[in-house]
Amino acid sequence: MRECRSISICLRERDDWLKVNLGGIVPLSTVDWLGRAALVVFLRGCPLRCPHCHNQRLQTGESRVAFHVIASRIVAQVKGTRSAARTPVPLSMQIDLDDASQRASSKPFVDAFVLSGGEPLHQPDACARLFRLAKSLHLATGLETSGYYPDRLERLLEMNLVDKVFLDLKTALVETDYERATGSSGAAVFVRESLDICCKQGVALDTRSTVFPEMPSGPQLAEVAEMLLELKAKYPENRLESLILQQGHAREGEPWFEPVSLEAMQEMAGAFRTGIKVQVRAAPKIKWTN
Ligand code: SF4
Repeated sequence: MRECRSISICLRERDDWLKVNLGGIVPLSTVDWLGRAALVVFLRGCPLRCPHCHNQRLQTGESRVAFHVIASRIVAQVKGTRSAARTPVPLSMQIDLDDASQRASSKPFVDAFVLSGGEPLHQPDACARLFRLAKSLHLATGLETSGYYPDRLERLLEMNLVDKVFLDLKTALVETDYERATGSSGAAVFVRESLDICCKQGVALDTRSTVFPEMPSGPQLAEVAEMLLELKAKYPENRLESLILQQGHAREGEPWFEPVSLEAMQEMAGAFRTGIKVQVRAAPKIKWTN
């Protein structure tokens, strides 16, 4: 009964004006939030220009979709309904309230909802609305962010809409280094502010650094680890779970380069002072045969 009511709250918003600049929806991902089966919504738009960005097509552009259409697709994917079709369906068919209570009692396959991008906080209203919808579906909510919008992040956390933050740390938070890693100026100070906010508010937090051959280097990563240790000491209420080092690869259209090996990343992590959980991840080597 409770769930049915919360779904209907979302439905009442279907005539709303809000249009979301949508990048895409991945119905099931097990890599964005390890240990969970997540539905991931990618929002378009990002203020940064990281040279190896794998989602370049989401940095700019317009593909506005009415909120109720996206909401309908999310409910359909989570609970299962005919409106799971990718093409827009007539408004009257988008969510059937009679079916909703039945679906609400079924065990959903996905148990988490992740907003990614682009930079999702580029569209703060869409983030809040989508997270509210996910909460009404009893999904755990995760936000993948560059940390560029600390004020917007803080507001979402104050509204208790985010269960876990995945924050990218491109390199040490030194402005010149960060400028090189993001192709944009002024980001380092915002990222630091976002980190402080997450630790202060005690939201579950994973930080991620993608390691490319030219950056971040071992010493830069050691600086990142040191900063995280300082934050842990400064905010005892923090729930900083880990620093993830992930292997960076050439993006589509970029000249190929040899990724930093798993062993080299493990060696970098081995030089960090203890006190922080470090995970090292590399894509499996694929051997192509004709
Ligand atoms: S922050 Fe993410 S989406 Fe934005 S340019 Fe960098 S890698 Fe791409």
